[in-house]
Amino acid sequence: MTDPSHDPAVASEQGADAARGAARRWWLPRTVVIRRVHHDFPGVTTYAMQPLDADDWADYRAEAGQFNMLHLPGAGEAAISLSELPQLGDGFLWHTIRAAGNVTRGIAGLRVGDTLGVRGPFGSSWPLHACRQRDVLIVAGGIGLAPLRPAISLLLHERQRFGAMHLLYGARSPDSLLYASQFEQWEERGMAVHVTVDRSRPGWRGHVGVVPLLLERLRGFAPDNTVVFCCGPEVMMRYTIKAALGRGIPISRIWVSLERNMQCAVGLCGHCQLGPEFVCKDGPVFRYDRVARWLGIEAL
Ligand SMILES: Cc1cc2nc3c(=O)[nH]c(=O)nc-3n(C[C@H](O)[C@H](O)[C@H](O)COP(=O)(O)OP(=O)(O)OC[C@H]3O[C@@H](n4cnc5c(N)ncnc54)[C@H](O)[C@@H]3O)c2cc1C
Repeated sequence: MTDPSHDPAVASEQGADAARGAARRWWLPRTVVIRRVHHDFPGVTTYAMQPLDADDWADYRAEAGQFNMLHLPGAGEAAISLSELPQLGDGFLWHTIRAAGNVTRGIAGLRVGDTLGVRGPFGSSWPLHACRQRDVLIVAGGIGLAPLRPAISLLLHERQRFGAMHLLYGARSPDSLLYASQFEQWEERGMAVHVTVDRSRPGWRGHVGVVPLLLERLRGFAPDNTVVFCCGPEVMMRYTIKAALGRGIPISRIWVSLERNMQCAVGLCGHCQLGPEFVCKDGPVFRYDRVARWLGIEAL
């Protein structure tokens, strides 16, 4: 009797099932329940979301840097990065959200026990393999730390595989630092945390100034053996990259995460197109030299 796993008809049916599963995952929101709400600072909130039906979510596996489309009935959808991965702990999907417009303001009004729809995960991820035996600089501005947090968790999980690790993080003020309660733990686990703010307040003992300045002054890493993961406002990323190149970090070891207006999330509608790249499916994480040319064109 033929082993069913070698039967082309069975294999083709299994392939078709997988394709149907992927298509369903892409187009149909699955329901999550909000289990925890943490107000990070005014306008920014972190949510722990639990899949409503575990079976329906059995195939869900996201990577660090990927995003979901959050669907709020009556308002629409917004692309939101995973700010922690379900497989790294409690099985929750974590999202940190700034109330910016229709969907995110609507989500800001939700409470523990409320539900919303999720499509995903979508997009590319931080290339953690490229960090092996290398020094790693995680450079974040503002809420740009959210898509980097799963990468930090994974890197610290296998800390011995990597060289020096530094987080360079800039925020508007000491009151708008994301995940500040985790900094001490990250330091203890082997990542040096350097924080800077645009505007100080009485009692602030940290740096004041922009993130690229931290990079210009940083000691304790080998530029020619360093990988950079960077996410934040585009102007911050531009100057960070300039500083990184100025320090001698090879352009081929710099990765950025980009944001563009996202609608379909699967490379069909073109809303997020940047030159020939679709930020939703080719990104949002890009090796910088792949997109440098397009980022240099204003308003593209
Ligand atoms: C890959 C990716 C990952 C992302 N990850 C995150 C994340 O982790 N967390 C997060 O908070 N955001 C994230 N974003 C950004 C988020 O998707 C956008 O902010 C999204 O547009 C929010 O949807 P919305 O409907 O709430 O806002 P929208 O209605 O789309 O509004 C977005 C912007 O437009 C402005 N705006 C809205 N309406 C008007 C108007 N009538 N006139 C003038 N301006 C207006 C708003 O002030 C805001 O600046 C991500 C985006 C991408 C592409």
